[in-house]
Amino acid sequence: MFAYHAPPGLLQGRRILVTGASRGIGAAAALAYAAHGAQLVLLGRDRESLAHTAQALAAAGHAPAQLVALDLEHAEAADYTALAAELGGHLDGLLHNASLLGPRAAVEHTPASEFARVMQVNVNATFALTRALLPLLRKAPGDASVVFTSSSVGRKGRAHWGAYAVSKFATEGLMQTLADELAGTPLRANSINPGGTRTAMRAAAYPDEDPQRVPAPAQIMPVYLYLMGPDSAAVNGQALNAQ
Ligand code: NAP
Repeated sequence: MFAYHAPPGLLQGRRILVTGASRGIGAAAALAYAAHGAQLVLLGRDRESLAHTAQALAAAGHAPAQLVALDLEHAEAADYTALAAELGGHLDGLLHNASLLGPRAAVEHTPASEFARVMQVNVNATFALTRALLPLLRKAPGDASVVFTSSSVGRKGRAHWGAYAVSKFATEGLMQTLADELAGTPLRANSINPGGTRTAMRAAAYPDEDPQRVPAPAQIMPVYLYLMGPDSAAVNGQALNAQ
């Protein structure tokens, strides 16, 4: 596991937006950030899907989160502009976590429509959201952080990982390009490969695996905390592993 021990007040006063916050790693990150003092903006497909995470935050005694409903498969340019206006103020952190696995199939057998769908959610929406929220991130009073979520197959291609692998390579490319543009500013961009983690996506990718063999989302949080807090202020353009 990534070795980092976050002090309790690491993210005190920071406003952080997490996409795909309804479940899995996104929900765990939202809880971990709130537990370290952050104010959360939870982005999900619809408000109902976010209710569970919002309730978990409340049950743990954390500040109420702002909920943002945005279906990343169907959102258009105007939706991203409206979102930035609705949020207002500034953001100190943005965790791009939402993703689609898509079909586990050979390139030859991957329907073009499914390829496009995965690229829409995993790449185009990530680009559009980054672009829309950069002005808010630039308004952060201190250092600010954009964290992208990659995968092992976003760093080395693997048979039958179809559009998902390609989308994660593109994610790394977007991260590197943005990081180079941000060099020398208080804003930084990095990526995390969570590694095999006990979620619905993992179960869909490895249906025969005993889920207990891989860590729960809450166990892989050290690197998520590290990249959102001031201890990583000088880290930019890096591809890190949670495990
Ligand atoms: P998950 O359990 O499948 O959760 C995916 C999240 O993305 C959900 O919150 C889901 O929302 C959201 N999402 C999907 N399509 C969306 C859309 N159109 N609009 C808005 N939200 C949408 O996945 P996970 O395992 O936690 O994965 C989190 C991240 O880690 C992903 O980027 C994934 O690629 C990466 N990753 C995971 C593993 C692993 O082993 N778990 C390994 C490597 C990388 P709904 O609840 O509304 O569907």
